[in-house]
Parts: sequence; structure tokens; C-alpha cells
Amino acid sequence: MRVAVVTGASRGIGKACAKRLAADGDIVVINYSHSEEQAQAVLDDIRENGGDGMLFRADVSKLDEVKAMMRATIQAYSQIDILVNNAGIVKDAYLLMLDPKNLDYCMDVNVKGYFYCAQQATLKMFRKKKGVIINMSSVSAQMALAGQSVYSATKGAVNAMTKTMAKELAPYGIRVNAIAPGFIETEMIDALSDEMRAEYLKSIPLGRFGKAEEVASLVSLLCSDRMAYMTGQTLVLDGGLSL
Ligand code: NAP
Repeated sequence: MRVAVVTGASRGIGKACAKRLAADGDIVVINYSHSEEQAQAVLDDIRENGGDGMLFRADVSKLDEVKAMMRATIQAYSQIDILVNNAGIVKDAYLLMLDPKNLDYCMDVNVKGYFYCAQQATLKMFRKKKGVIINMSSVSAQMALAGQSVYSATKGAVNAMTKTMAKELAPYGIRVNAIAPGFIETEMIDALSDEMRAEYLKSIPLGRFGKAEEVASLVSLLCSDRMAYMTGQTLVLDGGLSL
């Protein structure tokens, strides 16, 4: 049995990852920061399908809350085998309109939050000398989308941290990889106007947005021993958008 902590699992990609890992037989810790009802619905769904896990409310940008989450996971299940660093936010703004508060907020959640969770989960993974960390990045790290300089910078940081963490943690049996999705049908892209959606669709060679379940399939594969020799990589999953 493996224990997986999935951050930002109350909806979207995180929810799909939690459900997929539970279907793979993993116990899942469903993290959220505000959406308790949605997170509970994810756990109920997992239980109805024969899986198990628990909810944990923690703002990943707060180190003490992340520590409490990892501690509670160890108290409940005695181990952490998988961390999916997924909780992320987007606050698009053109450079000249940048609000310093939003800049801090994005850095705190999308960058510091990933470090805090990776550090605290790793401390628990050391016991077994085995573990997997998946960092949710974005194709925005390598493609320039106007208004996304902050978001793309945070995701560039995720790609860079993934490589270095992978090198540091390999001797301890911990693999670290990132996934860079393109446009995935979640609430994060619901904010797009119909015009923008149509425009973006034209630029995707496969002609559609991706599904959260497709990202979850890749998470599942990267967590499996079939990928035991893969570490430090960022895998792009974007229907060809970045080609
Ligand atoms: P989403 O639908 O907006 O869901 C975000 C999740 O993160 C929610 O469960 C939210 O829970 C949680 N969250 C936000 N701030 C948090 C915090 N401080 N602490 C803990 N949880 C927090 O987003 P998504 O589209 O599934 O995206 C998930 C990840 O994939 C993000 O890292 C995003 O950058 C990346 N991504 C998404 C796309 C896309 O097209 N959707 C493309 C590329 C990359 P609460 O409501 O409880 O806060």
C-alpha cells in the first residue's frame, strides 16, 4: 500500500489525480485550502469506489500548515510515498498593471508552497528510502502568453526546482518529475471568454483542450515502478500546443 498526498485536490487536475491514485490502490490525502465541501465530495467518491483517504485543510503557502498536514498523514498512515504538488493559482496581469500583492501571492503558493511540501514530504520519505514527487508545472513556462509573466515565472521555477531536487534526492530513492499541461478543462480556464477559447483551440494541433483525467493518467504512470528510471524531467502534455 502507498500513501499519496495530493495538494489542491478539491477540484480540477488535483481531484482527478486523487481519484486516479485511489483507483490505483493508494490511500489519498486530499488537501484543499477553502473548498471543504468539494474536497469532501472527492473523498466520498473515492470511498464509494472502494478506496480510502482523508481530508486535510492546509494553505500550502504556510509552512506551519504544511508541517501539520505531513505530521497528520504520518500519524494516520505511518508513511508518505507520493507527493503531487498541484495546488496552484493564476492571477494574470500585464506587466505594467502588476499588483505587488498578487505577485507575492503567486510566488507564495506556486513556488514557496511547492518547496514547503516537497521538503516536508521528503523528510518522511527518507524513512523508506523511496518516494515520488510530481510537480505540476505548465506549458506557460516555455510559451509566452501575454499577461502571464508572473505565472510563467512561477512555472519556470517549478521546472528548475524539479531538476535540482531530483539530483539531490536520487541517492535517497526519491524521484522528482514535473508535468507541464497545456489547456486543461478545469475551473482555471473557465474564466476564458468564448472568443479566447476559440482562438486558443485553433492553436492546439489535436484540436481540443485536455482532460484532467489525462493529466492524472500521466501522474499515475510517473508514480509507478514502470517509470523507476525517470527523474528530473518535465513532461509536456499539451495536445501539441507548444510545437
Ligand atoms: P483549479 O481548478 O483552480 O484548482 C486549484 C486547486 O488548488 C483547488 O483544489 C484549490 O483548492 C487549490 N488551492 C489553491 N490555492 C491553494 C493553497 N494556497 N493551498 C492549498 N490548496 C490550494 O486549478 P487546476 O486547473 O486544476 O490546476 C491545478 C494545477 O495545474 C495548478 O498548479 C495549475 O497551475 C496547473 N495547470 C493547470 C492548467 C489548466 O489548463 N487547467 C494548465 C497548466 C497547468 P481551494 O479552493 O480549497 O483553495
